[in-house]
Amino acid sequence: MKGKRGDNREMNKRIYLDNAATTRVSEEVLQEMLPYFRECYANPSAIYGFAGEAKKAVGIARERAADLIGVKPNEIYFTAGGSESDNWAVRAVAEGLSDKGRHIITSKIEHHAVLHTCQYLEKQGYEVTYLDVDEEGKISPEALEKAVRPDTVLISLMAANNEIGTIEPIARIGEIAHERGVLFHTDAVQAYGHVPLNMEKMHIDLLSASGHKLNGPKGVGILYCRENVRLRPLIHGGAQERGRRAGTLNVPGIVGFGKAAALAGETMQERSDREAALRDYLIDRVLAEIPYTRLNGSRQERLSNNAHFCFRFIEGESLLILLDQRGICGSSGSACTSGALDPSHVLLAIGLPHEIAHGSLRLTLSAETTKEEIDVTVEALKEIVGRLRDMSPLYEDAMRRGQIEK
Ligand SMILES: *Cc1c(COP(=O)(O)O)cnc(C)c1O
Repeated sequence: MKGKRGDNREMNKRIYLDNAATTRVSEEVLQEMLPYFRECYANPSAIYGFAGEAKKAVGIARERAADLIGVKPNEIYFTAGGSESDNWAVRAVAEGLSDKGRHIITSKIEHHAVLHTCQYLEKQGYEVTYLDVDEEGKISPEALEKAVRPDTVLISLMAANNEIGTIEPIARIGEIAHERGVLFHTDAVQAYGHVPLNMEKMHIDLLSASGHKLNGPKGVGILYCRENVRLRPLIHGGAQERGRRAGTLNVPGIVGFGKAAALAGETMQERSDREAALRDYLIDRVLAEIPYTRLNGSRQERLSNNAHFCFRFIEGESLLILLDQRGICGSSGSACTSGALDPSHVLLAIGLPHEIAHGSLRLTLSAETTKEEIDVTVEALKEIVGRLRDMSPLYEDAMRRGQIEK
C-alpha cells in the first residue's frame, strides 16, 4: 500500500506535456478492454460460441473506428500501430502499381515511418519527390500540382505534423490527387480523433491512425483503405482482416481503440476548444515573458494541443533535463536520443538554422491539462531558460556584440 501511495504522489506532481508522443489510456477505455484479457479471451476467428463475444466486440470497434471518419467498417484494417499502417499503405500502393509507374510524392516533414519507407523504396528503384514546406510547415498545393507526373502512383502527405502541430490542407491535396488520378494516403496519426476528417470530402484513399495518440492503448492502429483500392498484404500468414493482414487479432487493443475513437468523436469539439484556449494562454505567456523565443508552426492551422518553441542561445536537451527535475515532461521534438546531434528534419525543413533548431521544446496538452499546470510550467521555463542563458557562451557572445540586451 505504501508503494502505491507513493506512486500516486508522484503522479500528482508530475506535469505531463508530451501528449504528441503518447497519451494516457482513459479510464473508460481501460474498463472496456479488461474483460477481453481474462473472460472473453477466445480467438475471434474460432467457430465455437465462446468466440462470439470477442468477434462481436471487434465488430463494434471496427464500426466505431469507421464512424469517426465517415467510412464503412469493411474499409478498416486493424494493425499494430501508426508505423505499421504507414509502412503498409506506402509499400502496398507503390508495389501494387509498379507496372503503372514508380514515382511517389511525399514531403520533407513526414514522420519517419513514411520517410524511411520511401527511402527503402528508393533503394528498390522507385523515385520519390520530397516536397518542401513553407516557414509554417505548410505543404503547398501548387507545388504538389507541379510535382505530379504521368508515372506518379502515390501521394502520401500527413494530415497534421507531429512536431510543430501544423494542420495541412489535405482537402485541397486530395482534390489534386483525384483530378490527376493518383491515390492519396495521409498519415493522420495526430489528426484522427482530434480534428474532423471526412474521407469522401477530402478525397482520401488511405489513412493511418494509432490508438495511443487518442487515449487508447499502444500497439494498435488502423489503416483505412477505400473499398475499390486493391491492398496487398504487408504481413503474410492467416486469413484475418479479410486476408489482408495476418495475425491473431489483438482483441483488447482493438476494443480499446474502438472505445477511444468513440469517445474522441463525442468529445472532439468541446475538448479541442478547451485545449486550444489553454494552448493559446501558454503560447502567449511564453512569447511575452521569455525574450528571444519563437513559436514554430502555424498560429491558425494548428493542432489544438500543440505548442512548439525555439529558445535562442540554449540547447533543447538541457532544457528537457531541467524541466524533468521539476517533474515536467516535454519533448525537444528532435531525435537526439541516439546521441546524434542533428536537429529535427522538420525544423530544418521550415528553414531554421541549426543553432536555433537546437533550442527547441514541444509541449503538447491533453484534456486533463489544467491552467495551474501551465502556470507552473511557464514559471519553470522562465527560470530555467534564464539560468541556461547565463551559462551560454553563445548568449554572452551575442551580448558582447550588442546583438541583444540583457
Ligand atoms: C506517433 C506517430 C506515428 C507512429 O505511430 P505508432 O503507433 O507509435 O507506431 C506515425 N506518424 C505520426 C504523425 C505520429 O505522430
